[in-house]
Amino acid sequence: MVMEEQPQRIRWTEVPITFAPLIIIRCPECKSDRKPVIVNTNTEDDGSITRRCICRECGAPSLLVLEPIENKVQFLDF
Ligand SMILES: [Zn+2]
Repeated sequence: MVMEEQPQRIRWTEVPITFAPLIIIRCPECKSDRKPVIVNTNTEDDGSITRRCICRECGAPSLLVLEPIENKVQFLDF
């Protein structure tokens, strides 16, 4: 089954819904929520991701550590 060929046949109102948190990352210095410049991304042994970021607003450098969190899948009852 090749999914890409006929995506219009999927009934999107009938598929299960997965909810995931939307994380808004703010600069620790100026609290800007603009997406920072990512200088470097490193995947750690524990599965976390460390990013070296530069704020687009104030230029402050910061480390952003993204920790793996298992998503608790919720299904809506139709
Ligand atoms: Zn900033």
